[in-house]
This record gives sequence, structure tokens and C-alpha cells, in this order.
Amino acid sequence: MTNFKKVPFLTCEVSPRRKVKINLSGCNFNCKGCFAIAKRDVGRTLSVEGLLDLLVKSCQIIYGGLVDDVQMTGGEPTKDRDYLLSLIKGLRKLGVSRIGVSTNGYMLDKDLVEKLKSLSVDYIKLDLKAYTDEIHKWYTGKSNINVLRAVRLLHDYGLNFYVRTIFTPNIIDVSEIEKIAKFLSSVDKNILYRLFQFAPEQLDVKLSRKPTEEEMLKAFDVARKYLNNVEFFVYPENKISGYKTAYDPNYKIVEVRADELLENFKKIDEIAMSADKNWNVQFLTMNQVLSS
Ligand code: SF4
Repeated sequence: MTNFKKVPFLTCEVSPRRKVKINLSGCNFNCKGCFAIAKRDVGRTLSVEGLLDLLVKSCQIIYGGLVDDVQMTGGEPTKDRDYLLSLIKGLRKLGVSRIGVSTNGYMLDKDLVEKLKSLSVDYIKLDLKAYTDEIHKWYTGKSNINVLRAVRLLHDYGLNFYVRTIFTPNIIDVSEIEKIAKFLSSVDKNILYRLFQFAPEQLDVKLSRKPTEEEMLKAFDVARKYLNNVEFFVYPENKISGYKTAYDPNYKIVEVRADELLENFKKIDEIAMSADKNWNVQFLTMNQVLSS
């Protein structure tokens, strides 16, 4: 393997579940609501073997041994499919039993879906940003034709997947959610659909506002008209009773961050430590881990 990729950080969830998210850098979309550090081509340049070594050493320090559950995310992890596929093969060799990929779906063509299937990838998280193509193009810079095709391919190949959308007032609102739910139901009414709330505090530019409780409940009810499995994630400070929150109060993560990027995490750390969130986020640097 000679392929290299920049890796900005690993997210090691310690509580309530043990799971590592590998953030691979670079993205083929340019979403207006994106605050991901991994969107840009930044981080430590690592071969697949180098990344697996970082993973193993990080897990040893944080959990005392390798985790069973690893998800590739980004950025867009399918942007470099050879790297992604080599990484999945390497994880299987290490004995990781549950492997997932979080993707915007644009590169998920027949060839890649077949390969992910042949590697028995356990689940795919697919972001469907908008159904109306003009909105999708405006929001991401790309058409959603490939993404809609990816939903059908994942379904037809029998991969385990679910679809997510961020409810963003006046942009991706109730009418868009209804169109997405309708489309998903035309593929299969049992597709799991998860709705998340737009979080304006994470963006440097003003795009939209936090959805109201009424709007979120309306979107949830509209989606449920078409689909049997709809889940609704809110931030704890919204206190909408009876719905899953996006962050468990026992949520604890340790990030393994590229030393050269530490400045870039300041804002996200401030948000995490703010009074209304109080998330338990700690970090190690890649140099610390690799020299252990
Ligand atoms: S697909 Fe994800 S990482 Fe890429 S620009 Fe959009 S939100 Fe950011």
C-alpha cells in the first residue's frame, strides 16, 4: 500500500459506548452549514498502515485495547476509495467487528457499493441534505442525483444503512423533509430516517437559526406520515421531552488530534465547554500517542 491521506483527528468515544470515528480529510461538497475541520485537506499525512498504527496505539492508551466499533467519517471518506477500502480491509485484519462509513453519498456508485458489500461493511450513514436539486446545489455545490441513486443502490444491494438530514429553518425545512420522506418511502418505507437540528453556534457565518420545538415536531410528524422508522435528535438544552437527544449526558470523548492543527480546535472546545452543553471532551496529540 502506497496511498497516503491527511488525517486531522480520531474521535474516541469512551462513554456511553466505545467507538472510534476516523476523520479522513477533504470533501467533494462545500456545504454552507459545514463546520467540519476535516472538510479541508488538513492533518497528519498517514499511510493506511500508519493510520492503523495510530488507531491501535490510541485505543491501547484510551481503552486498554482495541475497540470493536470503528466508523470512517470526514470530510468525505469515499473521496479516496482505494484508501478507504484498504483501511476497511486493515481494520478487518486487526479484528474490528463493526465497521461503518458516514458519507454524503455522492461517490457511492455501483462499484463502490459492491465493494463495501463484499467487505461486509456493517452500516452506512448517508446524509441527504435536500431533495430539491436547486436547494442541494446551492447548499453543497453539487447535484443530488448521485445521492438519490446511492439510496437506491444501498437498498438494492441489501446494505444496512440509514439516512440523516439536518433540519435548517428556511432552507431545509418541513416541506423539504416531506419531500425526502416521500422519496425514501418510494424506495422502502422501513428505511431508518434521522432528523437532526441545525446548530448555528458552530458556524462562523450566519446561515439560519436554531429550529423551534414546534418546527421540529412538525417535521418529525410529517416524516412519520411516509416512513415507519423516524428518529428525532435534539440538543439537550432544547428540553423537548420524549425524544432522543443528540448528546447523552454521560457522553465522554477523547480526541487524538494532529499536533499541527491544535489551534483549529479552539472554537469547538469553547462550544463543548459552554454552560448549556458541558460536554466531556478531552484530547491527546498524535505525537503523544505515537511516541508512547
Ligand atoms: S459533506 Fe460534510 S464535510 Fe463535506 S462540506 Fe458537507 S458537511 Fe462538510
